[in-house]
Amino acid sequence: MKRSLEKFNRLVDALQQLPTIGQKSATRLAYHMVMNDSFGALKLAHAIENALSSLRKCRSCGGLSEDELCSICSDERRNHELLCIVENAKDILTFEENALFDGRYFVLDSVEHLDISHLRDVVKSGIREVIFALTPSIANQGIILYIEDKLYDLDVRFSRIAQGVPTGVSLENVDILSLTKAMEDRVSI
Ligand SMILES: [Zn+2]
Repeated sequence: MKRSLEKFNRLVDALQQLPTIGQKSATRLAYHMVMNDSFGALKLAHAIENALSSLRKCRSCGGLSEDELCSICSDERRNHELLCIVENAKDILTFEENALFDGRYFVLDSVEHLDISHLRDVVKSGIREVIFALTPSIANQGIILYIEDKLYDLDVRFSRIAQGVPTGVSLENVDILSLTKAMEDRVSI
């Protein structure tokens, strides 16, 4: 019996690898796909395949893009004097979904992989203010100091989003009002 459900179990296992999906949800989703909505499931599989084959990192900001330069970096109408440094590409989606910012972004990802000379080039392309939109934490405070130090000789102001973003909580989980306020009330550093 178990052998005959090998493929179903493999689907459950794969779904279970996704964040926030436990075994119960994975089983429910797999059952739904197989028994109730096989057309929707195929559409989902196709969308995943398509997204994976066409999405990449923007050459400039490191955000999600379908082209070499993302639609934000290539949008001339945006404010090209403001650069918002975020922890990951997902944070850009949070800001953009809620139209919280109209400047440019730079994805930090990890300090080990941070390309300082690339960041310097971006800043030198006309940025007047660098805004750190990082979750407050001791580690991030260290990162802010490190980056400030590396950009010290450039003619640029530094600010960070205001307190009100709780310590250790990632931006996607902060309510939009708090995040809007944190961006508006950003403080110079
Ligand atoms: Zn970009």
